[in-house]
Amino acid sequence: KLTSREFHPQDTVVDVDGVKIGDGSFVTMAGPCSVEGEEQIMETARMAKAGGATILRGGAYKPRTSPYAFQGLGEEGLKIMRKAADAYGLKVITEVMDEAHIDVVCEYADIIQIGARNMQNFRLLEAVGKTGKPIGLKRGISGTIQEWLNAAEYIAVQGNSKIIFIERGIRTYETATRNTFDLSAVPLIKKLSHFPIIVDPSHGTGVWDLVGPMARAGVASGADGMIVEIHPDPLHAWSDGEQSLNEKNYLKMMEEVNILVDAM
Ligand code: PEP
Ligand code: MN
Repeated sequence: KLTSREFHPQDTVVDVDGVKIGDGSFVTMAGPCSVEGEEQIMETARMAKAGGATILRGGAYKPRTSPYAFQGLGEEGLKIMRKAADAYGLKVITEVMDEAHIDVVCEYADIIQIGARNMQNFRLLEAVGKTGKPIGLKRGISGTIQEWLNAAEYIAVQGNSKIIFIERGIRTYETATRNTFDLSAVPLIKKLSHFPIIVDPSHGTGVWDLVGPMARAGVASGADGMIVEIHPDPLHAWSDGEQSLNEKNYLKMMEEVNILVDAM
């Protein structure tokens, strides 16, 4: 298989326009769950940069559990996220949910995110594979490691070798956390595949004060980076406020993470 370590023994480094993922550094992607408006995304980009993130995250097309919940700003959201990222010298990662939006997302984003709910949307995987863009592939809500690897294979078989695995927790019987963050996936994916893997302690736990400890554990597990939700005012965030870090807590987390990164 194209994604297997056997096929390609060396680590693959995904180069996002100069930001390298999988080269031994620890890359941080930070930003709001949803892009809410220009002022919010500008302020969040400033925060992200101040903490040392190099990639801005943010959803413009949101996979919400309820059809009545905020669905995202669409192209307007992409536009202002690009503007904010450029203002602070950041790259952009954002989710695409639908084949119909691939072209517009490619216009504004540097990395296409495939959300957990679409890990096995095979036609979507093929379509994003064809774009040649770096793809951040989240683990499915109840995805096994083998299913996740096969999902990546759907992308790779299209000639795309810029895949970044994202461990974001899986559903188990536990309800005290939003998901069960499966850190063993990091060394396991590294053993089975040559592509980089980053962790998402925000969706992995769903609880803001668990994010820092699990981010640190992510570094210790050998992850190539993390994607984390931050917000200037988490209490009033339009989505995932309960797992988003405010500026003070984000900066504190980054300080602690950097100590571990330097020690690794
Ligand atoms: C997100 O990144 O905001 C998101 C919806 O994540 P997931 O697909 O992992 O639930
Ligand atoms: Mn979210």
